[in-house]
Amino acid sequence: MKKSSRELLASYIDALYPIIYINHFDFKVIDEMIADIVEDRKILEYQNGLGAVDFENKSLKQECDLSGFLHIVKDDGYGSAILLVLKDVHDELKKPEIIALLKYIAERNMYNEDYNTCVFIVSSKLCIPDELEDLVTVFDMPLPELSEIKELMEDFIQDLQITVPENVVGEIAVSFKGLNEFQIRQILNLAYQDGGCLDFDDKQLILGQKEQLIKKAGLLEMIPVKESVEDIGGLENLKEWLYKKEVIFNQLDRAMKYGVDIPKGIMIVGMPGCGKSLAAKAAAKLFEIPLVRLDIGRLLGKYVGESEHNMRRALKLAEAISPCVLWIDEIEKAFSGVGESGGGSDVTTRLFGQFLTWMQEKENTVFIVSTANDISKIPPEFLRKGRFDELFYVDFPGVEERKQIIEIHLKKRNKWNKDLDVISLAKKTEGYNGADLEAIVKDAVENCFIEGKEQLSTEDLIEAQKNIKSISVTLDRRIKEIKESIKDIDLKPASNPENRHATRPGAKKSVAISKEIGISTGSRVATLLNNFMLN
Ligand code: ADP
Repeated sequence: MKKSSRELLASYIDALYPIIYINHFDFKVIDEMIADIVEDRKILEYQNGLGAVDFENKSLKQECDLSGFLHIVKDDGYGSAILLVLKDVHDELKKPEIIALLKYIAERNMYNEDYNTCVFIVSSKLCIPDELEDLVTVFDMPLPELSEIKELMEDFIQDLQITVPENVVGEIAVSFKGLNEFQIRQILNLAYQDGGCLDFDDKQLILGQKEQLIKKAGLLEMIPVKESVEDIGGLENLKEWLYKKEVIFNQLDRAMKYGVDIPKGIMIVGMPGCGKSLAAKAAAKLFEIPLVRLDIGRLLGKYVGESEHNMRRALKLAEAISPCVLWIDEIEKAFSGVGESGGGSDVTTRLFGQFLTWMQEKENTVFIVSTANDISKIPPEFLRKGRFDELFYVDFPGVEERKQIIEIHLKKRNKWNKDLDVISLAKKTEGYNGADLEAIVKDAVENCFIEGKEQLSTEDLIEAQKNIKSISVTLDRRIKEIKESIKDIDLKPASNPENRHATRPGAKKSVAISKEIGISTGSRVATLLNNFMLN
């Protein structure tokens, strides 16, 4: 059987590997693992920028630089077993004096029976000087596979003698993917202390850990999600499609075992301010998975190959924290200049190619949502069949959709009442997008408040509308260009004028399944997720 990270690291020490380079950003996790494996060894820690620190409580024991520290401790390995933990020292490793001191320690460790000092270098950056290459072993903390996660959970459940339904283990294990053994144990302990058992609500704790991971890596942006599918007015086809995929995402383990293909993603194209971004957020909330944004600008680096390296890391991170929604907003801007030659375009073209290959080969639970206004400049291969599960087109809302959107925004502000003649306003607002309609409601509510009125009236809404021009008027030319750009592409309308109210497919059935496997559906999960994301 494969060794756990802890066992693997312990075996490296036993095998007298002199310098072990732990390439990791989370020092707390590494400290816990070290504490777990050291047995009788004395641990001496050096923290770059500080000096010698106490491994247990991190208090400063002596101010010194790395060379001073190594001079002091280099002979401590005679007579007692020592573990040197050097943190964030990657830049120091280039100095000849440091190389010489590390060689001194490493060689004694290997060839002198009376000497026992193992060196751990813990850093998020991997820099090994040529002179030390033969002495350094890189320890990449392997992430547990799904089967290992399940095993880990089952051991935990057995140790504490708690009863957890089999399907809960399966579903939660899928969410644990991307976290290391220690993080998983931490969450299991937290969940146990919190409720004395394990259930589906513990997915929130997992989301929290994943958010930390994303923030630390700095390559993807974690987007807090408040909006749900019910906050989208119209777009019934799109909503219905999302409801279907919800059934899969909320029981991924079961779906995969059943043989269901995991949804790859969607492209949402069309008019600005009509709910494309809203749909990306609502999808993440519906599927109860994190929403992370891939911002190509953020990946661009100064050095040759740096941008590609960043893209690779970002995609790996998305895979590691999956299931997640990976959102690429305004993809036409992200990949503008693809195919053109010279300067920055070369980098963008390479990044685009890299992304395309990844999409093509991806066999994971990263659900891609690409949103775009104008797709005339997007290379056609991006839109080729099979790349996405579906390409949706979002147009300006129809009259019934405008009514829904106005009502949603009134209700959000606690200003909806049945006497309001919303349909009149909906009829007057042909060519307005969702954002315009929201602006009307916002202005009307604000004016009412300033004027000291208790209730909002239809007249107030009509009055506010007079001051807000529709986007179709203000961006007339741009809108025509967008329409032109999509006319030859096979897109599915996101709206369905015939079927106004999207419902979850076989709503009763899906609730029944959820109950059967213990998923808490609906508002409780929504509220929990909401609270978590907002905190
Ligand atoms: P885009 O299509 O450009 O991505 P957004 O989804 O960001 O537009 O919409 C901007 C804002 O306008 C949303 O946050 C929401 O408040 C409002 N809005 C747009 N479309 C809708 C809609 N269909 N239903 C409800 N609100 C909408």
